[in-house]
Amino acid sequence: MLVEIIPLGSIEAAIKREVSSALRNVYGVDVSFQEAKQMPQGLYENSRGQYRAEGLLEFTAQKGRGEKIVAITNDDMYYTGRNYVFGLAYLGGNACIISTYRLKKQTQREFSGKTEQEVFIGRVRKEVIHEVGHTLGLEHCSNNRCVMSFSPTVLDVDRKEEYLCGACRRELD
Ligand SMILES: [Zn+2]
Ligand SMILES: [Zn+2]
Repeated sequence: MLVEIIPLGSIEAAIKREVSSALRNVYGVDVSFQEAKQMPQGLYENSRGQYRAEGLLEFTAQKGRGEKIVAITNDDMYYTGRNYVFGLAYLGGNACIISTYRLKKQTQREFSGKTEQEVFIGRVRKEVIHEVGHTLGLEHCSNNRCVMSFSPTVLDVDRKEEYLCGACRRELD
C-alpha cells in the first residue's frame, strides 16, 4: 500500500522523516511525499483563529493520489463540537489530517529522561499512526496503552504506546 503525505505549509524535515518511519514501521506501507501546499485560507475561521478540520480533510482527499493520504499542518484545527483536534479521519476513508500545533504543549510530567523534542516527536508519530489506523477501519480501542485509544489531551497521547495492541493488529490481518 502507498501512503502519500501532503505537507500543508512548511513542515520540518525531521517531522517528515518521523512520520514516514512511524507509518513504515507499524503498517509496513510505502510512503511518498507531495510538494508542500498552502493551507486553504477559506477554511480559516477568523473568530477562532483555527482551521476547520472537516474542510481540511476534504481538501486532502481531493489533492492526494495515494491509496491513503495524510496531510500534516502546524496550524490549529477544530472540529464540530470540539475546541480542538490533534487529527481527523473518517473510518475506512482514504484521507486523514494531523495538526502538530497542540502536540507541542509542555507538560509537568516526568518523561523518563526524554527531551521536549523527543516527547513532541513521539506524539506526532502516535497521532499519525492513530489517524491512519482509522482510515484502515480501526475504531477507538479500550486498551489505553494502544495507539488506537482515544487521546483528547497530550497526557493521554503520552500515556499510550506507538504500537497497535494485539486485538487491533488482528483486525488488520
Ligand atoms: Zn481517533
Ligand atoms: Zn488496540
